[in-house]
Amino acid sequence: MVDLKGQYEDIKATVNSSVLEVLESTAYINGPKVHEFQKNLEDYLGVKHVIPCANGTDALQIAMMGLGLKPGDEVITADFTFAATVEVIALLGLTPVLVDVNPDTFNIDVDAIKKAITPNTKAIVPVHLFGQCAPMDAIMEIANAHNLYVIEDNAQAIGATYTFKDGTKKKTGTIGHVASTSFFPSKNLGCYGDGGAIFTNDDALALVIRGVVNHGMYRRYYHDVVGVNSRLDSIQAAVLNAKLPKLDDYNNRRKAAANAYDKAFEGHNNIVTPFRDGVQDNHVFHQYTLKVKNTDRDALVKHLNDKGIPCGVYYPVPLHSQTAYADERYNEADFTVTNQLIQEVISLPMHTELDADQIAYISNTIIQFVNG
Ligand SMILES: *Cc1c(COP(=O)(O)O)cnc(C)c1O
Repeated sequence: MVDLKGQYEDIKATVNSSVLEVLESTAYINGPKVHEFQKNLEDYLGVKHVIPCANGTDALQIAMMGLGLKPGDEVITADFTFAATVEVIALLGLTPVLVDVNPDTFNIDVDAIKKAITPNTKAIVPVHLFGQCAPMDAIMEIANAHNLYVIEDNAQAIGATYTFKDGTKKKTGTIGHVASTSFFPSKNLGCYGDGGAIFTNDDALALVIRGVVNHGMYRRYYHDVVGVNSRLDSIQAAVLNAKLPKLDDYNNRRKAAANAYDKAFEGHNNIVTPFRDGVQDNHVFHQYTLKVKNTDRDALVKHLNDKGIPCGVYYPVPLHSQTAYADERYNEADFTVTNQLIQEVISLPMHTELDADQIAYISNTIIQFVNG
């Protein structure tokens, strides 16, 4: 699904020397590399504050802690996403409110958000799923009208640019009140272990969050709030400093692979390629996910595996049907899209090192199976 080795070979000299510097310096925790990466990412995103932390799940949790969300507060998020998003809502004693998604973009459905708002709603967590921007124009409008926080889960879309109706462009993760991201190795900007970050343009919130990530300390050994211990390692920051200048190139290579797949599948009615809204930069293809119609998707997965082609089903079970998150408040009729998507989606190999031969082999194998 990913080719981390090929990517590493290309940047080996820079990464190795940057990591060796950390080893020699012994500044393993909160060393200068971490601060340097924070500044570099702030500049890249055009955001006032980046707060590095240990992983993308922590980043979401810390963002919610920083906003001061309290048990009983309802947080609306998508039913069709990785469990981390709903997990931290539940862990903090907040009430997750899962809603259906759009059948084309797979992103949170705007009308479903509107329907789910109650007097207890405090926040919306859009996930820019598979690298495609959620409909932030409408989400910010709803949030402003109802006085809600917007926490962007940007784990899958770092480097994407969202274009508003009025033509304004902003990087994902800099639109809502606060955002989280993950540097898990296979993410679009991945380190060589775990890593994550929180972004915000709000000075006061950034100050609170810098304390939350560090045991709730604002002065050494004075703990004003209950915090967590969540740090980005200096070694991971060294890797990220070497990779950040390549991020746009990496995302461009993903888009080129996606375009090649699109072209290969053109004219095949049972193969629905990822939705495009015509704005090239708003999808950075963390995943390239097809919908297959009139096809036994699980048999296709098996067939591809037999042919030596890795593929993934993201996600096979919607969150509202997971044992941990099932709730009698949920009504199956409200999840018709996710219930259908879980039967049709299949994600193909997608990374920075895919070549034309690989894409041709993968797409031909799929086309033969789906037609046959
Ligand atoms: C990867 C991911 C996370 C979690 O990131 P970790 O660094 O693995 O904790 C959260 N949300 C989404 C949508 C993700 O894809």
